[in-house]
Amino acid sequence: GSIPSSAEIDALLATAHERYAATTDGRVADYIPVLGAADPSKFGMSLVTADGRTHSLGDSAHTFSIQSISKAFVYALVCDALGHEVVHDRVGVNNTGLPFNSVVALELNGGSPLNPMVNAGAIATTALVHADPTLRWEAIHAGLSAFAGRELQLDEEVFASEMLTNHRNRAIAHLLTSYTRLDPEPLGVVETYTKQCSLSVTAADLAVMGATLADGGVNPVTGQRVVSEQAARDTLAVLASCGMYERSGEWLFEIGLPAKSGVSGGILAVAPGKGALAVFSPPLDEAGNSVRGQRVCAYLSRALALNLFASA
Ligand code: GLU
Repeated sequence: GSIPSSAEIDALLATAHERYAATTDGRVADYIPVLGAADPSKFGMSLVTADGRTHSLGDSAHTFSIQSISKAFVYALVCDALGHEVVHDRVGVNNTGLPFNSVVALELNGGSPLNPMVNAGAIATTALVHADPTLRWEAIHAGLSAFAGRELQLDEEVFASEMLTNHRNRAIAHLLTSYTRLDPEPLGVVETYTKQCSLSVTAADLAVMGATLADGGVNPVTGQRVVSEQAARDTLAVLASCGMYERSGEWLFEIGLPAKSGVSGGILAVAPGKGALAVFSPPLDEAGNSVRGQRVCAYLSRALALNLFASA
């Protein structure tokens, strides 16, 4: 079926917001010091249809750092530029079953990153954008801004905070280099990766970015083609298997949509051909997924009949 009328969507978003606003489960991430200062009561959501209609509620205009959700879009840009085969040769598409920043997963797989949604694979993907750090950042900044349909800004405070504490990501990059899986200078790649994670977005931005994937790579608000249809499809496939950390299987089982979450509290779920839903709420579960975000997505995926595996 197709997506319901605008009035129905607004009513369902309002119900979801009301139902889960009182949820107090979960903990705000604090391993990146500045993230620990996030207001746990912030709660916003936005839904953008593949034909460009926007619906927002609550703190949908509140900015936060995109964190891991950037991985999906950098992967899409790299798939678009280099193609399915070349990218797959460097970065796999299977879930690790281990935490996002695992070094063990990389070691167990002979130094070959298992997928682009965990840090090892994401750092390897960022390296594929360009060998030159300035051009690499420019391409990512311009590309993610095109997905959002506006020029995204770097959150300097988050970037500085994470650069002081990202020892594990530096270790992962050096390990990739030792396995000859990273061509550019490793610390430069970690810097670009940390910058991409520090881009400031709103739930409304994320929904437009996701709707661009839902719309086969064309931003439905600006009309601009950002990536190829194939790159959008490749990205959604990886999000289905690996987008929700080590809970990706349970997420697909319950909600039935490709999705990506990040440690700052964003979740983006994409219904191919239909649209995308983004939720922002900082308290996370053990795996790193926003608690309210998951509940809102579960509720709306059912109410809007978005589950990919449902035949009706
Ligand atoms: N920049 C964060 C890191 O590398 C992203 C983590 C996440 O959102 O999963 O640790």
